[in-house]
Amino acid sequence: MKQLKEILKENFQKEKRNKITFLTGAGLSAASGIPTYRGSDGIWVKGTKFHKPEEFGTFKYFSKNQEEVWQFNLFRKGMFAKAQPNDSHTLLADIEQLIPEDFSIITQNIDGLHQRGGNSGNKVYEIHGNMRTVRCSLECSKAVYLYPKDIALDRIDEEISDETWEKLECPKCGAVLRPNILWFDEYYNERLYKVDSTLRIAKNTGILVVIGTSGATTLPLALVKQTLNYGGYVLDVNLEDNNITKLIKDKKRAVPFRMTSDAFLSEFHNILDELILIHG
Ligand SMILES: [Zn+2]
Repeated sequence: MKQLKEILKENFQKEKRNKITFLTGAGLSAASGIPTYRGSDGIWVKGTKFHKPEEFGTFKYFSKNQEEVWQFNLFRKGMFAKAQPNDSHTLLADIEQLIPEDFSIITQNIDGLHQRGGNSGNKVYEIHGNMRTVRCSLECSKAVYLYPKDIALDRIDEEISDETWEKLECPKCGAVLRPNILWFDEYYNERLYKVDSTLRIAKNTGILVVIGTSGATTLPLALVKQTLNYGGYVLDVNLEDNNITKLIKDKKRAVPFRMTSDAFLSEFHNILDELILIHG
């Protein structure tokens, strides 16, 4: 991977070293056994109904079907807790160790596996929210609360007990709480999803590595454009072409890498390690 070495070297030789940022999506957590909920492995609830994520993952659907949506999310919470970070997560933690000052992860994933894999919490920007926190579904305040303890479900069709429903009440107004995640009929903002911070990071990024995301939502695509517009490189690590590929086609500073994230990150780490030995 001569090309990767040259790009990293160029970044290193700059007087003011540019940031290195990783934009990650569902593909990165697939090896940890977390399904993407897109296409054929969409969402089944109550054993019978099939929903497209674009229909199920909305505030509109939640407001009419709170039990189904909470069953799905409490089941997912249990699944995330059982999942283990994979080699790519570990490699990203190793890379942060090499360049702690210049490192960021911007992730679409809500599974928290980057932090559990060893990355620092303040280096991980979760642009679609997370499953550690909840908030009031009526937005009676701006408060964000930690998940109540012991409420994860083992099965997606498990009944939610009265005791659990009580834990899911807003402490301020008593309305039902909601997951602190971005739904398809909602908009990005800075307070919950760090939209301004991540656009600023993308602007100051010398190398943006895009891994395991197809670019199906607007902010990831905007981040890619931002880095390219300000003269940074975009490295597209994906086994297949996708929306990101389309966006960066014919851009001089955009390079596709058709390989697994494990193979790419391992090489990236080794080259970086070597460059630090030489350049300090
Ligand atoms: Zn409330």
